[in-house]
Amino acid sequence: MSYTVPKHLKGIIAVDEDHSDENNIAGKIVCTCGCERFGILHNNDAEYDSTLGYGERDGLKVAAVCENCGQKHLLFDEAKHSYDGCVCGSCKSADDGSLEEMRCADCGSGAFNIRLAIEQEDRQQFIEEVVSDDPERFSPDDFADIFDWITIYVGCPECGTENEWISLELS
Ligand SMILES: [Zn+2]
Ligand SMILES: [Zn+2]
Repeated sequence: MSYTVPKHLKGIIAVDEDHSDENNIAGKIVCTCGCERFGILHNNDAEYDSTLGYGERDGLKVAAVCENCGQKHLLFDEAKHSYDGCVCGSCKSADDGSLEEMRCADCGSGAFNIRLAIEQEDRQQFIEEVVSDDPERFSPDDFADIFDWITIYVGCPECGTENEWISLELS
């Protein structure tokens, strides 16, 4: 089955080919050093500020920090990886300094295994609706970087549990 890995995940996702196809990518995050345990930085719990206007709010952002080598990998940025954020500018990229560290609710550990399941834009539709409108900014393969849905599963190796942490429909 053919699939297209989003550019920012190239080299850090072990693709689960049984659950990936031309519009879907699933797999676990593995650092370029081989490590599968990460700290997680995110703003999923940030409070929505209703005084901010269109394009002023921070989009959801999730990054993984390798426990072994310390590399930081961006996993998701709503401002870049959603149609509203990337094409329309509905939100902005959150500053990394505003992100908080995840802790396991059960054992307090800060190192996790991460799996992603991503539904991508339809390539043909993306070309017709986005690339044809703005060919200087977008190319056909960018469809793979714009998500319709993202699900993030987080597992605690200490507790042996895995939970669906984020399941977000995007437009
Ligand atoms: Zn690493
Ligand atoms: Zn735990």
